[in-house]
Amino acid sequence: MTQEELFKKLVAHCKEYGFIFPSSEIYDGLSAVYDYGQLGVELKNNIKRYWWDAMTKLHDNVVGIDAAIFMHPKTWEASGHVSAFNDPLIDNKDSKKRYRADVLIEDWIAKQDEKIGKEVEKARKRFGESFNEEQYLATSPRVLDIKAKRDAVNQRMADALNANDLVELRQIIVDCEIVCPISGTRNWTEVRQFNLMFDTKIGSLSDGANTIYLRPETAQGIFVNFLNVQKTGRMKLPFGIAQIGKAFRNEIVARQFIFRMREFEQMEMQFFVRPGEEMRWFEHWKNFRMKWHQALGFGEKNYRFHDHEKLAFYANAATDVEFNFPFGFKEVEGIHSRTDYDLGQHQKYSGKKMQYFDAETGESYIPYVIETSIGVDRMILQVLSAAYCEEKLESGEERTVLRIPAQLAPVKAAILPLVKKDGMPEIAREIMNTLKFDYNVQYDEKDSIGKRYRRQDAIGTPLCITVDTQTLSDRTVTVRHRDSMTQERVAIEALPALLHDETSFSKLFTKLM
Ligand code: ATP
Repeated sequence: MTQEELFKKLVAHCKEYGFIFPSSEIYDGLSAVYDYGQLGVELKNNIKRYWWDAMTKLHDNVVGIDAAIFMHPKTWEASGHVSAFNDPLIDNKDSKKRYRADVLIEDWIAKQDEKIGKEVEKARKRFGESFNEEQYLATSPRVLDIKAKRDAVNQRMADALNANDLVELRQIIVDCEIVCPISGTRNWTEVRQFNLMFDTKIGSLSDGANTIYLRPETAQGIFVNFLNVQKTGRMKLPFGIAQIGKAFRNEIVARQFIFRMREFEQMEMQFFVRPGEEMRWFEHWKNFRMKWHQALGFGEKNYRFHDHEKLAFYANAATDVEFNFPFGFKEVEGIHSRTDYDLGQHQKYSGKKMQYFDAETGESYIPYVIETSIGVDRMILQVLSAAYCEEKLESGEERTVLRIPAQLAPVKAAILPLVKKDGMPEIAREIMNTLKFDYNVQYDEKDSIGKRYRRQDAIGTPLCITVDTQTLSDRTVTVRHRDSMTQERVAIEALPALLHDETSFSKLFTKLM
């Protein structure tokens, strides 16, 4: 199965099992907007809890807030979003399709990497046992030529974006002979800037309506509350403020399912530090955030950092955590050292001091900021694409299983009476009633036990608890583990401890310390 086929199957699976639906589907949906179904919302809540607790509970100097989506419009002037939150757009005149110019170029760059990969595979076949990949990559004239062209285009794009040079961006597309994937032609318009913020009106028209924006990021709600939290919480530098909430961007090119949405959720933290100490903290949070991802066990090789070549003018370091999605390595999280830019801008635009009094040095200053910013929806896609698996069993049967880490799984255990008689449903209900206060558990008595196991595999339930004939005499049940499919006998009284052991976040958290 190709990665593309796998991705299509995953999208269909998400709908079929109640994880994710297209928004307002009965009206043919709304592009790049999705709804989470009964299982999707559980997964989402568990991911949010994993993040929230890892950031706030594990760090006694990080606290959370929940700011409003609507903010005073000046916020977005100060932050630079009104003037500069733009994407460079280009249209193909034949297909009438619109693209982000930088994304077209990035895709071209990714193709060069694929070409290099193919050259390596060809050479491996040619040289057999004696093949030395490192040496080949360093010496093959063909590979060196592709690399040089790729790097030159990358540099030209970074320079053009930094200089906001739209003519040059178009020229790169022309020079690379990039064609529209739909029409296959190179009939391109000029490149234009397009602001990504949604606006709306506040107050009735007779009141004198005012344009306000749906926030395009949650960070600004943290910056404007910096002193409120610092003073009321008696926080001392360094300290952080975390927030989870909706953000809205009028993305031009919406694709790849929930990877790029117009309404999405972010989990952001701003960590305030003394000026001069930001690089140390940047490294600290880079390491911590990578550990947080890798603790889920999807394989270290599926993550990498991508350091930014194009830094925002106010930033002095920035990196992305990229995950190996079915459509390649893509950003899930950004970690940025933003200097004193945001607080400085709010001080300037509001006329209110945004300074911190440092009792140790006796000075007042605007702190520097390290930001960690991750999309909840991209994280969900990471978990689902890593977890989705089609397996052929020894019996010749096939099963689709979601190997979601037990801590994040929507349903922790299914409770299944083997048959609908002999008092088995009653015992199963009794087990449900003791477990349901602490865990999301499901009762299922329909169809054969094999079918019920498959249904739970398909939604990623880590444990199936079966009440059978032996239960009636010794009050033990069969516990089946999703991934290994091994079964063990467990006393009913021991189930709460087993569930705790399997699904508690503490196992993940100890990996982060
Ligand atoms: P991209 O380059 O992919 O547009 P970005 O660099 O603009 O992303 P940031 O502004 O750094 O993204 O936002 C932080 C995080 O928010 C991203 O790493 C991503 O996980 C998430 N995010 C941003 N835009 C979207 C979107 N349209 N849909 C879903 N998640 C998003």
